[in-house]
Amino acid sequence: MPGISTELFPQGVSEHLTCSICHDVLNAGAFSCDQQHVACSECLKEWIAKEPSCPTCRVEVKEVVESPILSRMVKSLKCKCSQEGCDWTGEYSELAPHLDSVCSYYPRACSKAALGCDSLVSNAELPAHLDDDCLFNEKECPRGGRDCGGPGLGLYLSKDWSDHYHACQQHSCRIQGCTTIGSADVIALHKPGCREMDRALKEAEKGRAEAEQGRAEGQAEVEALRARVKELEGKPSSSQGQPFLPARSSSSSRESRQSRVFNVAAASQSKRGRIIPSTSPRRSRSPSGSELGSPVKKARS
Ligand SMILES: [Zn+2]
Ligand SMILES: [Zn+2]
Ligand SMILES: [Zn+2]
Ligand SMILES: [Zn+2]
Ligand SMILES: [Zn+2]
Ligand SMILES: [Zn+2]
Repeated sequence: MPGISTELFPQGVSEHLTCSICHDVLNAGAFSCDQQHVACSECLKEWIAKEPSCPTCRVEVKEVVESPILSRMVKSLKCKCSQEGCDWTGEYSELAPHLDSVCSYYPRACSKAALGCDSLVSNAELPAHLDDDCLFNEKECPRGGRDCGGPGLGLYLSKDWSDHYHACQQHSCRIQGCTTIGSADVIALHKPGCREMDRALKEAEKGRAEAEQGRAEGQAEVEALRARVKELEGKPSSSQGQPFLPARSSSSSRESRQSRVFNVAAASQSKRGRIIPSTSPRRSRSPSGSELGSPVKKARS
């Protein structure tokens, strides 16, 4: 096993605690010669298996003996946590206990390991793992909790989700306004008809709304006509006779007025005694004043 990464020791490490073979911090350090040159025990064993001499001064190495004093010195070095994101610092001897139980960023056995999960997850990642990935996390059925009728009464392990899905009796038809609830199979059978019915209802509602709009428009037209009639009725009487007056010179207009007087007289005469037949003189038909003196002649001709 190689040495301990120098990156864990931001304050730096003396060369007396650095392995002469791997150049990292001594891991179970040992003296390699009487000069007290040092190396990791593992590194030194691998070294002398090929060449039985001190890697620093080349004197013969008889055996590799791990040095307790070197280990104690390394253990008292100031270090930081090995996990990215963690801001813990302390003596190197405290790092292992920190990682084992405290560090939120160190991957450990999932809390559902006893049920069968073999994932390694940090405390920081555990909630997301339990929610999304862990197959051995117990979940409550999203449709009705403990009362949905599935095995375990709505509680199941994530790995059994599919079994629960088919056993659950709390599937609901999601079509608006429908309250049908049952197994997934029941809902699958129910849905096409329900959708058809929903469509028909919407269609009918649309027709009703259109008819209602048409009625409102008709009503508005009637109102407009009534308003127009009222407007015409409300006009002064002088303008009422306008269409009957010829729009010509003032003299002919006077003549026309005279002829009307004449006609009124004739009409009242005829009503009173029926003496004068319908061929009575009608000067009003004269286009001009040229035949003024002979109304009777004109009518007889
Ligand atoms: Zn080493
Ligand atoms: Zn040496
Ligand atoms: Zn940590
Ligand atoms: Zn898990
Ligand atoms: Zn359920
Ligand atoms: Zn339905």
